[in-house]
Amino acid sequence: MENKYVPSRFNAISHTDDNGVVLFNSYTGAITYFSNQEKQVVISSLKRAGTNLLENEIQKDLHTNGFLVSSSVDEKRRAQFLHQSLHRTDIMHLVLMPTEACNFRCTYCYETFERGKMKQSVIKGLKAFVQEKAASLTGLHISWFGGEPLTSLDALEELSESFLQVAKEKEIQYTCDLVTNGYLLTKEVFERLLSWNITQFMITIDGVDEVHDRRRHLTSGGKTFDTIIENLMAIKEVSGSFDITIRTNFDEDNLQEAAELTTFLKDHFADDKRFGIMYRPVGQWGGKNDDDIPVCSRTMANQKIWELTDEAITQGFRMSSMITDSLMPAASVCYAAKPHSLVVGSDGQLYKCTLSMNEEFNKVGEIHEDGQLELDYDKVAMWVTSGEETDTGCQSCFYRPACQGNHCPLYRMRTGESPCPYEKRNIKKVLNLIWKNSI
Ligand code: SF4
Ligand code: SF4
Repeated sequence: MENKYVPSRFNAISHTDDNGVVLFNSYTGAITYFSNQEKQVVISSLKRAGTNLLENEIQKDLHTNGFLVSSSVDEKRRAQFLHQSLHRTDIMHLVLMPTEACNFRCTYCYETFERGKMKQSVIKGLKAFVQEKAASLTGLHISWFGGEPLTSLDALEELSESFLQVAKEKEIQYTCDLVTNGYLLTKEVFERLLSWNITQFMITIDGVDEVHDRRRHLTSGGKTFDTIIENLMAIKEVSGSFDITIRTNFDEDNLQEAAELTTFLKDHFADDKRFGIMYRPVGQWGGKNDDDIPVCSRTMANQKIWELTDEAITQGFRMSSMITDSLMPAASVCYAAKPHSLVVGSDGQLYKCTLSMNEEFNKVGEIHEDGQLELDYDKVAMWVTSGEETDTGCQSCFYRPACQGNHCPLYRMRTGESPCPYEKRNIKKVLNLIWKNSI
């Protein structure tokens, strides 16, 4: 039978402001720009009828990047196979809470702060668990979370040094990210974190001066904006490679002032490509102030995320690398949906999700001092099998390899709907912004 090349079911296309196009394929993760001159060949090659031969360099390029596939390829089966790779046992992701206490009281926070610093028995248990697991691992990723992890720097240090040692001995690829409010992130602390392989950071800033301070203040009510900015300015002087996402949580309360923040960030950080911005709407995440939060409507939130990002890029401030990274195969899958991922609370309670920590269905087990895990596999199974396996919409979605129906298992459990990420819902705009961000 004659071979034929047809467009991949996982393609998305967007037009750029200079009359070119950006193509994206969620199975290969390729994102490729074609100029105005090349565009016609691209578009005609990607017609549903396909093409019999790869006749020119552009068509060969389309094939190499997965935009054109042989008609004999079963792409749905490939996606299924990719989904199975989530079950790899040689890669582990732990989300650790060195403390569940916090020095901030943000207006929209969902945490209850009932548990404080990580118990010594849990630290001991984690060290023993990783030591024991290490023999079968090729990769270990730690997300440092809380509470505010930097209020428990000694626990973070003790665990980091132990994990680094094990990773070195067993030649495991060891990577980390950290979510912090930035208040205690002095240059000295930052350099120590880098020495523990923590290179990806997320820090939330909600506005300039009092706009930020009224939303994200200290437990005592004190201001935090100036200290965070001083810290970030000092960090700019640190050489080496790291990636800082400045996240802005918006609702009706600070939306009007977002433009002012964009200009401020551009003035202070646009010259350093290690800093990038990400906007996210505040949700009613289960905190005690939920009823008072002026959340944006879903439509408004969807629109504003990308309008604000566009404005930042136009002004010369980089979009967070987390956005482009989330488009890669399996990269939009939440850790809660991954079989070899666990959240470890400061008292040794194990969870899958970092949001619904008071829900019984999220309390999936415990870690003991000797490193043994006691797991309720029925609960774990509920988190890791709630995606594309049964959702026919997901099975035929162009974004399936990236998300696998698993962007937020909690959202699916609560609403019964597919948890499509913001990037998928606005893919044309996002591709346009990726292009704009790259020039
Ligand atoms: S399941 Fe949803 S709410 Fe929970 S950690 Fe994942 S994305 Fe967040
Ligand atoms: S949840 Fe949405 S984006 Fe994800 S695979 Fe399903 S339909 Fe696609």
